[in-house]
Amino acid sequence: MMQGAFLPGNSTVELRDVPVPEPGHGEVLLKMKASTICGSDIRCIYHQHLGKGPEGYQGVVAGHEPSGQIVKAGPGCRRFGVGDRVIVYHISGCGVCNDCRRGYMISCTSEKYRRAYGWQRDGGMAEYLLAEEKDLIYLPGQLSYADGAQVACGFGTVYEGLQKIGISGDHAVLITGLGPVGLATAALSRKLGARRIIGIDIVPERIRLAKDLGICDEAIASGPDNVTEVRALTGGVGVERAVDCSANDAARATAIRATRKWGKIVFLGEGGRVEFNPSPDIIHDQKTIYGSWVTSTWLMEELVERLVAWNLHPQELITHRFALDTASDAYEVMASGKCGKVAVCFDDELKQ
Ligand SMILES: [Zn+2]
Ligand SMILES: [Zn+2]
Repeated sequence: MMQGAFLPGNSTVELRDVPVPEPGHGEVLLKMKASTICGSDIRCIYHQHLGKGPEGYQGVVAGHEPSGQIVKAGPGCRRFGVGDRVIVYHISGCGVCNDCRRGYMISCTSEKYRRAYGWQRDGGMAEYLLAEEKDLIYLPGQLSYADGAQVACGFGTVYEGLQKIGISGDHAVLITGLGPVGLATAALSRKLGARRIIGIDIVPERIRLAKDLGICDEAIASGPDNVTEVRALTGGVGVERAVDCSANDAARATAIRATRKWGKIVFLGEGGRVEFNPSPDIIHDQKTIYGSWVTSTWLMEELVERLVAWNLHPQELITHRFALDTASDAYEVMASGKCGKVAVCFDDELKQ
């Protein structure tokens, strides 16, 4: 038996004893090493079960950002074996629909086979995790498991969005929302060469963290004058690129309006609404708004390679680590928003 964390939906965590799974054909058993908490876990599961379809929580072991080491491999595994360090792409797709063949298992169209770890099948908040070999990404020795846990959902989602809008030394980048996804946006924009990085958030702890980490050149409090403030910081013209990580309607409008002519905006934050005036806000200024949802397995592999080359360690965004038996404290801290990334860690990863 092993311990696993479940989320009944009333802002509590339940620890239950469940059997250690046995890997079948094409499956592996991971000894969990690091499992980070996502904003969507809090938004759709922890407080109350909100999601439907791909975001519907089925009462499984929580946690969709797992990283661990293979301790058992079932028959028929072709690439990975016992001892390998791996990241798990957090949605297990059917493997044969068009989206899966493109590597975007996030949007797998098979109702029967699409199951996300921590939502519809057991996730990483347990001592062991049963995963399908096809969902694994190799984790190189230069990266820790805590680095790896953040690649799939957090940094991967950001990397995908930044690939869509393109970031280079020509660009000042505005980030609305400095939670873990916003901080990852700042860290990756820096490595991609952005000339200036400006962040906006409502929580003072997050503004301080963005400054302390040195990944934002400016971090300002959200308010009604944000568009004017961003223009003042960019020679009166606005930013070339904006990334919304807040899902807040006013912040999204700021991201659009603080972007200059011909600029590009990408929305990563999930849920909520936005209101803007198409003619003055985007059409006349020739702006483009992109939507971006998670990433693909191949782009995740590319990101892992870049993280090593850039010596960029996602674990630097982790402000709190907890053992599995104190998982309820971990979710409580994450729900407060007064933190960077929060992780449940095992073995050596807990000692850092
Ligand atoms: Zn996530
Ligand atoms: Zn599929």
